[in-house]
Amino acid sequence: MTEGKIIKALSGFYYVLSDGKMVQCRGRGVFRKNKITPLVGDNVIFQAENDREGYIMEVKPRKNELVRPPIANIDQAILIFSSTEPEFSPLLLDRFLVNVESNEIQPIICITKADLLAENERTEVNSYLEYYRSIGYEVVLLSAKTEEGINELYPLLKSKTSVFAGQSGVGKSSLINALNPELQLKTDEISSHLGRGKHTTRHVELMEVREGLVADTPGFSSLDFTNIEAEDLAYAFPEISEKSEECKFRGCLHVNEPKCAVKTAVEKNEISRERYDHYLLFLQEIKERKPRY
Ligand code: GDP
Ligand code: ZN
Repeated sequence: MTEGKIIKALSGFYYVLSDGKMVQCRGRGVFRKNKITPLVGDNVIFQAENDREGYIMEVKPRKNELVRPPIANIDQAILIFSSTEPEFSPLLLDRFLVNVESNEIQPIICITKADLLAENERTEVNSYLEYYRSIGYEVVLLSAKTEEGINELYPLLKSKTSVFAGQSGVGKSSLINALNPELQLKTDEISSHLGRGKHTTRHVELMEVREGLVADTPGFSSLDFTNIEAEDLAYAFPEISEKSEECKFRGCLHVNEPKCAVKTAVEKNEISRERYDHYLLFLQEIKERKPRY
């Protein structure tokens, strides 16, 4: 018996990556009994029939699972924002960060289209990015067009399963293609073959990128806060969460409470007022449970 990871599922077959080799597996009846449908990203135990074929015997417990795209055991989400066209939105970035953090997935902030920035715009975007770095996030400013910054992304992908997220038009497909030129070829061939657009929905597949696995389909487009409680929101803001330990009241929500260390830190500019305002806005949305998009 051997261990591996499902990186593709197609027509009843699971393609399991094990020790650098791909094994085409069928599922054994055990899944029907346990009502488990193996997912891309699942770590499995399989019985090899020969070099290239086998049977999945067991699906190991999942760390997490996403619905769109259907994928298990995600380590990190690469949050894609364009620096311009559409214009960089710190509010949207914070929405994504909270969403991903609340799913206990590590975010990486990736700002695309750096080649389109004028010098003064670049300075402004960079000052935002510095703040996010200062509170502990990995941040990469890059261009899929000139490939500036792409090399900074590779080491962050190593030994991880990553999924891309971001609004349409920010450059997710371009970046996925820049990371994997082979995939580009494949998509182009398929689209011309079928006479359909490049964005035809396909099954999710994990592609190997420099010792990491990256989902070839973006996820996380829904941005409601349905699984966050008001008292947990601060945990999705590292700098607020850290300061909150000094708040006078246990369970301080950092709104109107006296001797709130977070509010004091905002007054002293140690915490960004803009981020704090976003915190207050999201808190309100959670209380009303009427998310705005
Ligand atoms: P998606 O909807 O997030 O997958 O975005 P796409 O990858 O389809 O990109 C949207 C548009 O932005 C396309 O016209 C791309 O050519 C363009 N684009 C994407 N990345 C870059 C970049 O780094 N630089 C420039 N100049 N344009 C880009
Ligand atoms: Zn407080």
